[in-house]
Amino acid sequence: MLVLKGFSSGGQQGTKLFRQTIRSLGGSSKHFEPNVTRPESVEEYHHEEPVKKLRPPPCQMQNLMDIGSRSIFNEDHDMFRESARKFFREYIHPQHKKFEADGKVSREVWKELGKMGFLGIALPAEKGGVGGTFLDETIVLEEQAYAHCHAPAITVHSTIVMPYIVNYGTPEQIDKFMPAMSSGEMVGAIAMTEPDAGSDLQGIRTRAKREGENGDFILNGSKVFITNGILSDVVVVVAITDPTAKSNAHGITLFLVEDGMPGFKKGQNLNKVGYKAHDTAELFFEDVRLPASSVLGELNKGFYQLMTELPQERLALAITANAACEWMFEQTRAYVMQRKAFGGTLSSLQTVQHKLAELKTSIAVCRSFIDECIAQHNIGCLNNDTASMAKYWATDLENRVATECLQLHGGWGYMSDTCISRSFIDARVQSIYGGANEIMKELIGRTIVKPAK
Ligand SMILES: Cc1cc2nc3c(=O)[nH]c(=O)nc-3n(C[C@H](O)[C@H](O)[C@H](O)COP(=O)(O)OP(=O)(O)OC[C@H]3O[C@@H](n4cnc5c(N)ncnc54)[C@H](O)[C@@H]3O)c2cc1C
Repeated sequence: MLVLKGFSSGGQQGTKLFRQTIRSLGGSSKHFEPNVTRPESVEEYHHEEPVKKLRPPPCQMQNLMDIGSRSIFNEDHDMFRESARKFFREYIHPQHKKFEADGKVSREVWKELGKMGFLGIALPAEKGGVGGTFLDETIVLEEQAYAHCHAPAITVHSTIVMPYIVNYGTPEQIDKFMPAMSSGEMVGAIAMTEPDAGSDLQGIRTRAKREGENGDFILNGSKVFITNGILSDVVVVVAITDPTAKSNAHGITLFLVEDGMPGFKKGQNLNKVGYKAHDTAELFFEDVRLPASSVLGELNKGFYQLMTELPQERLALAITANAACEWMFEQTRAYVMQRKAFGGTLSSLQTVQHKLAELKTSIAVCRSFIDECIAQHNIGCLNNDTASMAKYWATDLENRVATECLQLHGGWGYMSDTCISRSFIDARVQSIYGGANEIMKELIGRTIVKPAK
């Protein structure tokens, strides 16, 4: 291997020196014959050139879902991905149509996920989690999307709800809920949205009023669109506890409400356009008596707790969106390569090739940004507005890719039985929930015009 003496390391500084030297020699880099030497040994090479080994990005693999790509992962992750891939393709995928027809998954599926160690995977083992990292969590979410299964709603249970309990729960709450949620015995949900308040969370009306000497709360109100609502055993419920606070943000508290508590009722499984295998429900609270021990975190600090946890939720949605794009692209590539038209296949048409080129490039660019966000979040550095960018960009892209891929499937793409039609329908909600994409732009925009301190 050739090493350019004096320019082998140092990044921008090295490049600057390199250009200056070329200029002083009166030449351009094109015609410049560098002063090169060969390292005597591997050690010398590494001393001169401490370059981190990079893995290829997915766009340089045969297939965008091939294992062994992406520099945020290593060989151990690849092995874990193999087992997750097998599980989702061989165990979950064959049951998915039944789950869609039933409007929910079976209890058994949650327990199987628990046995595999896929629930609470990024949470500390001493707090009832599995003890892995967010990279492991990412693999589970991606492999679910690569198996073309939107259910079960692992993102809600494992990536969203369980971290609230770990981060804000008392030792007693952690002991009670975490092991049961990691094993899939208990299913978790989070209830923020109400019939009259979604994007504007401060407009909620569900109220928890203090009553009696032992500090119990009486909960009244209703929630809507709650994922895992029907199967939920424990729900993080957002309620107003101080209606006199200067704004609702200062008077909101989170509660852990359990299935079976008197006055807690589940409504119907809502009939949605897509995500048919998710159980999405209305929840009603009529004078539900909650002991003081059911407060999750600090009284009247619920809004801040939500704001702290939302970046992970948004990144999780971006991860599933990017993975869905990769799956749709590969599905469509395979289709156009076998679909006969005009004496050849669709893929032999230049306009089709250009469309595939556009799709692949857009997905590859998004992948690069999302991987950067995953790496940042894995070390606790992802900020709120970057997570919002990831959510908005990846879910918008998912919708564009779904539209283009369905188009390339022609009339067959519009049939309910083709896989791409479900991707198209499922993609639609991604830009609405988890904070509508317009709200993401609000959050990003505010930081852009914030006066410098
Ligand atoms: C399938 C599904 C699952 C869900 N799961 C859950 C769950 O588990 N838990 C939970 O709490 N909630 C859940 N939700 C609710 C979801 O988070 C809300 O639907 C979402 O936040 C939008 O709120 P909204 O529906 O009240 O729309 P609204 O707040 O009424 O907004 C309607 C539209 O107006 C636009 N808009 C709103 N505000 C602004 C603004 N400031 N600037 C510009 N445009 C704006 C946006 O386009 C938005 O989509 C789920 C929803 C669906 C559909």
